[in-house]
Amino acid sequence: MAGYKMGKSKKIALIAHDNRKKALIAWAEENKEVLKNHKLCGTGTTAKLISEKTGLQVEGFKSGPMGGDQQIGAAIVDGDIDLMIFFWDPLTSQPHDPDVKALLRIAVLYDVVVAMSKSTADFILNSEKFNEEYDRNVIDYYDRIRKDNF
Ligand code: PGA
Repeated sequence: MAGYKMGKSKKIALIAHDNRKKALIAWAEENKEVLKNHKLCGTGTTAKLISEKTGLQVEGFKSGPMGGDQQIGAAIVDGDIDLMIFFWDPLTSQPHDPDVKALLRIAVLYDVVVAMSKSTADFILNSEKFNEEYDRNVIDYYDRIRKDNF
């Protein structure tokens, strides 16, 4: 399967569970000047709150529990997301935990850059590669199937 090319301007998904929303909004505010040069999207409530509190333009999908995580996953499959900042809550189980697991699987499969905490998000934004083009290395499932079974 062909790699997915990231341009210099990145397509970034922003997601936070309720107990982590304050932290993600604060991070977005802190990094507003950088983030405004990229294409932002997010799950419904996260996108709305970040837009309201920071003035950044964030395209909103459905709310996470209503299928927003799955929509983000589909956007990854379609090559519409390069980077995902996902502050999930390590202390609370969610009604949509299966969707969260599915989203994390798809993100790894498509070699999306993922941050699940502030420190990682900070490192990503300060990486030299953040401002460069980059070819993501998508696992070639079809090739594997052919080799293993046919
Ligand atoms: P929300 O969804 O941004 O709509 O709250 C986040 C999530 O729970 O996945």
